[in-house]
Order: sequence, then structure tokens, then C-alpha cells
Amino acid sequence: MGPPGAGKGTQAERLVADFDLPYYATGDILRAAVKELTEVGREAKQYMDRGDLVPDDLICRVIMERLDSGEAADGFLLDGFPRTVPQAETLEDALEKRGKDLTAALLIDAPDEEVIRRLSGRRICVKNQHVYHVEFDPPKNEGVCDQDGSRLIQRDDDKPETVKNRLDVYHEQTEPVIGWYEDKGLLRRFDGSRSPDEVHDHIRATLATLRLEAEL
Ligand SMILES: [Zn+2]
Repeated sequence: MGPPGAGKGTQAERLVADFDLPYYATGDILRAAVKELTEVGREAKQYMDRGDLVPDDLICRVIMERLDSGEAADGFLLDGFPRTVPQAETLEDALEKRGKDLTAALLIDAPDEEVIRRLSGRRICVKNQHVYHVEFDPPKNEGVCDQDGSRLIQRDDDKPETVKNRLDVYHEQTEPVIGWYEDKGLLRRFDGSRSPDEVHDHIRATLATLRLEAEL
């Protein structure tokens, strides 16, 4: 879990490589289930075709379908789920039925000002979507891509007003989930304003310790 721009995707990629875990990003596995026409995939497709949100228990069943396939016998990494407390409860019930539980809920935290600074400084080239940052990784010539000479623009998602809205949604939806996992003693916090390497080292060490404890 973590606010937009805190580096969740980067850290997830590294953890998947470190621990050789299947990675379940909700949107991706939902699309995969639909494409492979699995039982729950067919059901999910009906909602998606109508433009409706896929219900919590169905998303949870998509995840469980993957767990039951045996590919996650040594663990898995979830991203984008649970987003709400009812989703967290649904997940807990489904795992309990399988005699499994979560090792940890990882939170990569970053203050709002930092998120706004990171995202609103981002620029993307129109031709190949090369990414720059006006403050941390500026192009040689302002507004021009170093690699292909095309124009740099700010995506709508990164405009300050949109970033503020995304942060509002994040605080409203995710903070109760953070509290829920904190009460269960599962929450582990990491400082997302540190460098990606430092955050990665910290998460990896924490997970390695938790795994050792689980084996005892
Ligand atoms: Zn470019």
C-alpha cells in the first residue's frame, strides 16, 4: 500500500525478483482471467462489459483461483487489493479457509507534499513516453526529449489538481485499511521519501526476518 508516486511498482518488481513470488496486481490478473476465460473470468467479464465495477468477492475469487492453482505455494505479492476494509475482511476469510495467512501488509509512506512534488514535476515525451522530472531528472533542453527530440508534456494524471484528488481518494479509502492491518499487528511501514535502494533494502530485510520467524 502507499500513496501514488511512493514507488510501489518499483519495489514490487524488486521483491518479486528477490523472493521469486507470483505478483498479483489486481487489474492485471483480472484481465488475464477474462482473457483465459476461466470460470471467474467469465463472470468478471459480464461486469466489465457493462462498464460496472467488479464486486469485492469476485476480485477475491480471481485471486483465490490463482492461489488454488498451486503457483503460489511459497507465497505471493498482492498489489492494488485490498483497497477497502470489506475487501480486507473478504481476503482474510478466503485465506483462512485455505489455512493461509498474510505475512505482512507493507506500507510505503510519503507525505502529501512529497507526492505532489514528485508527480507534478514529471514530464513525458509525446513520441515514446520517455519519462523526465523537472527537478530530479531534467532533459538537457527544457521541454524537449533527449532521446528523440519530441515535445515533453505533463500527463493529466500528474497535474497538481488531479494529484490532489488522487491523494484525497487515497486517504479516504486506504487509511481505514492501514488502521485495520495495524490493529492485526500486520502493518510494516517504510519511508517512501528515502531512495528506492534504501526502501528496497529495508523491505527485503523485514520480509526475510518475518519469513524466518514463520518457519520457526
Ligand atoms: Zn522521447
